[in-house]
Amino acid sequence: MSKEKISILVADNSQPDIEIIKSTLGNYDDMKYSIDTASSSKDALDKAADNKFDLLLVNQNIQGSQGIKMLQEIIKRKLGMPVIMIVAEGEEKLGVKAMDKGAYDYLTKEEVKTVALNRAIRRAMQRKKLERDIRESVKKLEKLAIRDGLTGLYNHRHFREVLKNEYKKAKRHLQPLSCIMIDLDYFKAVNDNYGHQFGDFVLARSARILKRLVRDTDFVARYGGEEFFIILPNTELQGAFILGERIRNVFANSNFSKDNVSDRITVSAGISSTSDDNVVSDEDLITNVDKALYCAKWRGRNNVCCFEEVESGETISLKEEVKKIEDFHSRLERINENIKETCIESALDILREIESGWDYINEHSVRVSRYAEKLTRKLLLSEEEVNVVKRAALLHDIGMVGINSGILKKKGKLTDKEYVLIKRHSSIGVKIIERTRLFQKELPIILHHHERFDGNGYPHKLRGDVIPYGARILAIAEAYDVMMSNTIYKKAGSSEDAIAEIKVGAGNQFDPDMVNAFVKVINNGAKA
Ligand code: GH3
Ligand code: MG
Ligand code: MG
Repeated sequence: MSKEKISILVADNSQPDIEIIKSTLGNYDDMKYSIDTASSSKDALDKAADNKFDLLLVNQNIQGSQGIKMLQEIIKRKLGMPVIMIVAEGEEKLGVKAMDKGAYDYLTKEEVKTVALNRAIRRAMQRKKLERDIRESVKKLEKLAIRDGLTGLYNHRHFREVLKNEYKKAKRHLQPLSCIMIDLDYFKAVNDNYGHQFGDFVLARSARILKRLVRDTDFVARYGGEEFFIILPNTELQGAFILGERIRNVFANSNFSKDNVSDRITVSAGISSTSDDNVVSDEDLITNVDKALYCAKWRGRNNVCCFEEVESGETISLKEEVKKIEDFHSRLERINENIKETCIESALDILREIESGWDYINEHSVRVSRYAEKLTRKLLLSEEEVNVVKRAALLHDIGMVGINSGILKKKGKLTDKEYVLIKRHSSIGVKIIERTRLFQKELPIILHHHERFDGNGYPHKLRGDVIPYGARILAIAEAYDVMMSNTIYKKAGSSEDAIAEIKVGAGNQFDPDMVNAFVKVINNGAKA
């Protein structure tokens, strides 16, 4: 085992005392002490300034000044070096005073000759390490508090503070300040087409691109979901526009590729500046940049717009048209949602009519839908995604209608052959539902709700993140409900048992991140 090395500076003008320290410390095989000496406080402070010592042993009676004064100087100069004071017998009060002033410990001259010296040094080293660890943890926490977890950029809260400060500074020094707000175009479609994981990858990479394109003195923040904000101190509108165009170009010419998925992403950008007529506060900069971004979107996206262009009459009238179209679209969407709801209710009614004993499957689906909804919300997905998962959950077992009733109602264990037939219910469900053309987003969730995270599920043995996100949610919600319910095969278990069982499945049957989230959902529900 290699020896631990500790370098000590001994500040003492008595050669015999120094020899005692050297000989006491020479007794320890597990440590290698390297000792340097200083015979006056000036000499000691000069040597300590190099910061190459782990610890300082100071004789209170050192020549040139008292040890305590020297200790105070060390602290004042922020040398961060532990100090142990050595005092004469009967002068322990000075030792205590030294500790009050910041010394790690004190020893009497008699104690220096004993194991107490080694013990005090070891304790001081441990404390020094602990203090360093705490400092590092605090730094990490401070960083976490102002950073966005996914992109590493400043978070919204910190961005607001920075903008406030930069606005004040700009006013005080009569300097310009400009802002760019960037929004990824059609980003919802990126999530819908390739999944959230790819969406997250695009966001993280976008953040890196932006960081690369700005100056060290600029601030880049994640403003919200797929929106970024750049604060440009001491920058005129013109300069901000050039940067905005550069960013737009880089995105338009980049390919975002990961795990066989590849897509092109464009951005729209709005720009505002303190030179805009109406700006009297940092909030005005945000209002203006938002309007400018809206204008860039309206122009067809992949576009950069400055606030000063926004207020033209033409834009205002076209904005009204855009608003009307959006209103119309969102009302149609609401009608669409209602149609889907009615369709699901009717489908479940029909099933009840044609299949006796269907109530269990309906009730099961309603409960699964509730669990799935809670988990989806916990995973911070959008309201629309929550609705898709809820609908998929209500419909997930509809394909059971195509399975022989005898098998569904069988009390004993299923034979292998019967099990193969049961497994067809997810594909049959998709065949029934796809005819309505209403549930395109729900179909993959229904088809794959029996896939396993380790690739041993059915029907397609999909593995890991390749399994649609909603299907991974449904797998957990369904398993939990089955374990919690009385069925013809078994009696209902407790929630604790069901959760324990689901935890066992994390990483093999279920997505482990989702299991963690689900455990929190259930535990919070239990506490509520
Ligand atoms: P537009 O061109 O008008 O900006 O269309 P858009 O689809 O980009 O805009 P919209 O605001 O409708 O959608 C933003 C999407 O960003 C919806 C939301 O699911 C997604 N999103 C927000 N935050 C995150 C995130 O942290 N990760 C992922 N993957 N997606 C996110
Ligand atoms: Mg967008
Ligand atoms: Mg947006």
